[in-house]
Amino acid sequence: MFDSSPEVAIPTLSFAERTRRVVDEVRNTALRVGRDPVQIKILAVSKQKTVADIRALMNQGFRDFGESYVAEALPKLDSLASAGCTWHYVGVVQSNKTKRLAQHFDWIQSIDRVHIGKRLADARGEFSTTALNVCIQVNIDEEPTKAGVSMDQVPELVDQLQEFPQLQVRGLMAIPNPDAHQETTRDSFRQMRELFEKLQTNTSTHWDTLSMGMSGDYVIAIEEGATMIRIGTALFGPRI
Ligand SMILES: *Cc1c(COP(=O)(O)O)cnc(C)c1O
Repeated sequence: MFDSSPEVAIPTLSFAERTRRVVDEVRNTALRVGRDPVQIKILAVSKQKTVADIRALMNQGFRDFGESYVAEALPKLDSLASAGCTWHYVGVVQSNKTKRLAQHFDWIQSIDRVHIGKRLADARGEFSTTALNVCIQVNIDEEPTKAGVSMDQVPELVDQLQEFPQLQVRGLMAIPNPDAHQETTRDSFRQMRELFEKLQTNTSTHWDTLSMGMSGDYVIAIEEGATMIRIGTALFGPRI
């Protein structure tokens, strides 16, 4: 009659309530640290979520979506082909997937090898006259199993990628160690920002994206200078 188990007692938030919370928190954090909230783009990471879920977020005004698995993403991108969304790939880039990525996505945030950049550039040239936006993924905490280059390899990779006219090199992306203490995460974000700003002088005018911060740490990321946060759980609810 009266169920007190926590899973049942906690009301499920609607898409409108969840997005309102995130948007408010982004805005309040930005203002608190003297930043203009419009400088922070919220990328809705829709992996494991349905086309209906994505449409629900579109109804809340979202247009930028992120996916991590090519096979899962392509049918969704296809269903939403005329919806006017911008699609970001944030997963590991495998060589045998570069063609499909370059054809269907607007952004690839996870480049960590020039070889992958070249394959994406060649494929993009076949499919489109507009450049593919790319970010370099930095393995900020030097985790052995994680994709990304170390910080000291970033400048060379930026130079190499800028040689490809089919790529627009927009900035840096990082996923800090999820088990790190908050202050360690803050330190990682701070190092990313320093590197991002240092590279601003020898890169194109399109160097404008510092992609860091997820559901658990986006407030810290905004405090430390993120221009794009990638939010899954806090917008869509938990994944299975
Ligand atoms: C899944 C994912 C996210 C979103 O994670 P949440 O913790 O659910 O917000 C962000 N970035 C990348 C690269 C991801 O794979």
